Amino acid sequence: MRYLVVADIHSNIEAFEAVLEKAKNTGYDKVIFLGDVVGYGANPEECILMLKNKMDFGVIGNHDRAIIDENELSFFNEIAREALLWTRERLAGTMYLNFLKELPYTREIEPGIVITHSSVSAPEYWDYILTPYEAQLEFENADFKIMLYGHTHVPIVFEYTGGKAIPLMGSSFYLEESKRYILNPGSVGQPRDGDNRAAFAILDTEKRVYEVYRVHYRFDEQQRKIKEAGLPLMLATRLEIGR
Ligand code: ZN
Repeated sequence: MRYLVVADIHSNIEAFEAVLEKAKNTGYDKVIFLGDVVGYGANPEECILMLKNKMDFGVIGNHDRAIIDENELSFFNEIAREALLWTRERLAGTMYLNFLKELPYTREIEPGIVITHSSVSAPEYWDYILTPYEAQLEFENADFKIMLYGHTHVPIVFEYTGGKAIPLMGSSFYLEESKRYILNPGSVGQPRDGDNRAAFAILDTEKRVYEVYRVHYRFDEQQRKIKEAGLPLMLATRLEIGR
């Protein structure tokens, strides 16, 4: 099975459409969503609709969760919270909420392959796995062969070799049968690794190949909408620098 893997779309429809267009060329059978379809950007409805049409397997992100449970709003900084309050107002009483409510925290999509937004060991705490040490703890505290996650907005591959989590460089990886992996495709709608292109991945479970892609999109168009909506200006500027 060839999976298109998308995470952290964050209401950025221009980025999401560019990813889907490029993924057509790479080819895929099913779509995996790793959480955070909303928050930050100006097109929550459009992104939820598109995702609903395309998604085969999905999990909930912390921003999605804050739309349906206001207790979660306290976890966010002021800028993120402002965008979430704006999004909550737009989606209040609509059918879009049902889509978010049905997303689970974690899901096993094939034997040994699990998906989550933050971690499998404690998904509702929204911890970040950025360092080899944090990956190491996840390998030790959860049971999986391959784990796909989002939340950090930084593409990364960790391989578990000889009881140690090693970060791997590159964009194409062969996943060895005898090893375990933690994979982050990066963010569709708000990359934070200094590259402003939208990120996604293709996971081929038969060939055991995992590839990370980047694609240019009209961030200026999304910037214009963010400003027009009166959302915090910083949410527009960061799209250009990819931070
Ligand atoms: Zn996110």
